[in-house]
Amino acid sequence: MCAIVGVFGSTEASRVAYYSLFAMQHRGQEATGICSSDGKKLSKVKKKGLVTEVFDEEALGHLVGDMAIGHNRYSTAGSKSVIDAQPIYANYKLGEIAVAHNGNLINGENIKKMLIDEGAIFQSDMDTENIIHLIARSHKEHLKDRIIEALGVIKGAYCLVIQGRNKIFAIRDRYGVRPFALGQLEDGGYIVSSETCAFDLVGAKFIRDVRPGEMIIFDKAKEGFESIQLFEPDPRICAFEYIYFARPDSVIEGKSVYAVRQEMGRAMARENPIDADLVIPVPDSGVSAALGYAKQSGIPFEMGIVRNHYVGRTFIEPTQARRDMKVKLKLSPINSLLKGKKIVVIDDSLVRGTTAKRIIKILKDSGAKEVHMCITSPTIEHPCKYGIDTPSYKELISANKSVEEVRAYIKADSLSFLTIKSLVKSIGDERKYSLVSFDGNYFIK
Ligand code: 5GP
Ligand code: MG
Repeated sequence: MCAIVGVFGSTEASRVAYYSLFAMQHRGQEATGICSSDGKKLSKVKKKGLVTEVFDEEALGHLVGDMAIGHNRYSTAGSKSVIDAQPIYANYKLGEIAVAHNGNLINGENIKKMLIDEGAIFQSDMDTENIIHLIARSHKEHLKDRIIEALGVIKGAYCLVIQGRNKIFAIRDRYGVRPFALGQLEDGGYIVSSETCAFDLVGAKFIRDVRPGEMIIFDKAKEGFESIQLFEPDPRICAFEYIYFARPDSVIEGKSVYAVRQEMGRAMARENPIDADLVIPVPDSGVSAALGYAKQSGIPFEMGIVRNHYVGRTFIEPTQARRDMKVKLKLSPINSLLKGKKIVVIDDSLVRGTTAKRIIKILKDSGAKEVHMCITSPTIEHPCKYGIDTPSYKELISANKSVEEVRAYIKADSLSFLTIKSLVKSIGDERKYSLVSFDGNYFIK
């Protein structure tokens, strides 16, 4: 996942980056960083922890200048040490540079091996460090051409912000797998960020999405920004952004995430009508879809399970034992509401089955008569290699069990998933999506 932001030509650049990262905390909670530039030198702060923990007035005071880039980390490639926090910074032939990356390179290991064979020394485990090495080793005169050369070598899903002393480059891969939006700030500056929810917080006006295959250049020596179409676009935005990652108040490629999620719930209700007393969401990820299911079916919506907001996402603790514990800490039922009822419970996705199994136990323990689990995405049968932290085949329950076997495992009275076709229809079937977790079509070769 991860979130990136770039702010250019703003009197409060690092503060705008800070608010933007705060708005996108859901995309990564492990580490965060901002690198700013005042045209003469780059200043940087990065650390493990949440945005509000890492940055204080002192840190923001240190991050001077009218340009800044920032990053929230959710580890997909690399380890969990602070060395693996971004932006990555280096000093090379042309001076200082910083890079922040959202996505995953598929040939990162090969490039790294090649670079190490040639004598490169790596500071981190992140595939993003390859990009800095490639830029530093290029023989081109200008940073722009060095970046273009590096982009010719890397393959995968990426949104990048690259900052030199006087310029910011914003780049999106030709498939546009991860979202990336461009906006204008009230003070005339520009912002690029992973999600538009950041714009709402900092008062930026949405201009458009960064185009798949596009490089946008913000340059202090020039008015406005320059756009170069580097690669032929073949748009396939990640369907999982709509299903789970993005915040419901974000708009991705012209579609409201909230509206799309409701439509997924409606599709589930149409395809899978259930005779039930209540529709309840798994909070928070199932809320929008459960509303859609309730509206379409006419079955009343209730918040039958309450979430404790002071517990992080269940995936953060890596061991299975801790994960079970965390679900318990996080969710608790409203017993009086559930007793004797036939319940449709909606969640956005089922990965290992941990959440669903626990939820069903909670509901049954509360006296629910029937529990019908509806997952408003298809079965996840393949690991994503394009920037989502899905586990290996071994851990993906739907890669190893049939729907009926999963139903028995989670002890639901019934279990349904959306089909790939109805997922695509819910988002909008006029264009293509990255659906690798569902169809195993690893289209980036
Ligand atoms: P499970 O418990 O089946 O392993 O995972 C399903 C739950 O995890 C769902 O409630 C879903 O909202 C959430 N989820 C799905 N994908 C991700 C992810 O990439 N990261 C995190 N933190 N949670 C996820
Ligand atoms: Mg969830």
